[in-house]
Amino acid sequence: MGLVLARLLARRGIRACLIAPIESGPNTGFRPIALSEPSFALCESLAPIDAATATPIKTVHVSQRNAPGRTLMHATEHGLTALGRVIELADLSRQLAAGIDTCAPQVQHLSGVVTDWHAEASSVRVSWEGVDGTASEVTVRLLVLADGGKSVAREHDTAPVGARRTTPSTAVRDFGQAAIVCAIRSERGHRGVAWERFTADGPIALLPHGEQHALVWTLPAGKAASLVGTDDARFIAALTEAFGTDLGRFESPGERQTQPITSRRSSAGGHRVLRIGNAAQTLHPVAGQGLNLGLRDALVLALQAASDPLADPGSARFIAHYERSRQFDRRVTLGLTDALALVFRFGTGTGAGPGATLPARVRGIALELLDRCPPARRFLARRMMLGARAIP
Ligand SMILES: Cc1cc2nc3c(=O)[nH]c(=O)nc-3n(C[C@H](O)[C@H](O)[C@H](O)COP(=O)(O)OP(=O)(O)OC[C@H]3O[C@@H](n4cnc5c(N)ncnc54)[C@H](O)[C@@H]3O)c2cc1C
Repeated sequence: MGLVLARLLARRGIRACLIAPIESGPNTGFRPIALSEPSFALCESLAPIDAATATPIKTVHVSQRNAPGRTLMHATEHGLTALGRVIELADLSRQLAAGIDTCAPQVQHLSGVVTDWHAEASSVRVSWEGVDGTASEVTVRLLVLADGGKSVAREHDTAPVGARRTTPSTAVRDFGQAAIVCAIRSERGHRGVAWERFTADGPIALLPHGEQHALVWTLPAGKAASLVGTDDARFIAALTEAFGTDLGRFESPGERQTQPITSRRSSAGGHRVLRIGNAAQTLHPVAGQGLNLGLRDALVLALQAASDPLADPGSARFIAHYERSRQFDRRVTLGLTDALALVFRFGTGTGAGPGATLPARVRGIALELLDRCPPARRFLARRMMLGARAIP
């Protein structure tokens, strides 16, 4: 997110210092990201994105395993060629990083990691360590933490001497779940469809990714840990049992990894410190909104900084204004994502058809109604693409 913010600021002629180990990439393993079409357009406006790395989502199919009801959302009903694109996080980061040095002198890129910071009355002294291990310092007016939340473990009081001291807090919801993530093929192929299927254990997303699907399979953490290391045949059998046979046989699963799932909202950064992206909030991946929300964090910050280039961006006024303006989108997106993750787990049975539980039938009716009500579907699709801005 730091890269995106630096590029957005450079475009508006605002100087920034980017401290990031961008050569080593995001270090998250295989992480397929469903970027909404507006988010993809924003990234494409910042750096050229090779179309071969970003697979269009033409249709979204939402359904439940062993229960009736489904909703289809098509890009064409919104006058779009795609509802979004699936791109691997490492590919996106690499392409956004390419040519960052051409953003000089607006962007000064320091290759390394932030190790500490000390807020003073009118500046922040940031300590950082270069890739060669050299320790240095840089002084800025505002420190924007875009480190994916890694700083949370070492949250410290950033108030200057003499100022009112605040205790940063973090609200964490642990779903007891993990996601198994890998590339996989299917007999029928994806045909541009992103599948979201709710099961008794958690949602299964099968996203179009090149010629393959990108699988994000949310499971109770213990089950995920035992499944991730099984052989291909057992893994395919378990996935087929969980997802069903709509895509025919699954084949050739790629290297599998588990990624922990939490939902977290951090407090504001403190004196002369702001958080954006996952440093501010981490979302359950069920709705594929984390990066989309983080991009909106970066965009709004750049727009506000540009609206008054002479204002001090580290001032309490600037920070309070920014936090206020992000509150609604962040709360609504986090709240709806948590609700989606919880509602679809409640009373999800394993019996098919008549064996479906009452909550599963009620959800099935809701999915059917949504499918038959184009305005409601359009509203939902707009919200997924634009965030809380789409709420009148
Ligand atoms: C399984 C899974 C699937 C997901 N699918 C989607 C999806 O479909 N759509 C979607 O929108 N979101 C999705 N997300 C969420 C998305 O991955 C995150 O919201 C997004 O990656 C957050 O970006 P970020 O830049 O804030 O943090 P990160 O991606 O964590 O990046 C943090 C960066 O900071 C750097 N860094 C760390 N520490 C320091 C330091 N001390 N100094 C300098 N740099 C540092 C790291 O090297 C890294 O490059 C998914 C998440 C998971 C777990």
